[in-house]
Amino acid sequence: MRLTCPICGLEVDVPDDVISGEVVEHDCGAVLEVVVDGSSALLRPLDGVQEDWGE
Ligand SMILES: [Zn+2]
Repeated sequence: MRLTCPICGLEVDVPDDVISGEVVEHDCGAVLEVVVDGSSALLRPLDGVQEDWGE
């Protein structure tokens, strides 16, 4: 399935059977954690890895 990168807004390909907590690295350099919520899933930035995006 395809999720949206919260950093750059582009699509991120993840396996259809991806599980919550899986960590994926996107082409833009962001390290993202998969959060599965029922039948939907989203990505969120993994804290402490990237600098300069936030605050
Ligand atoms: Zn990205």
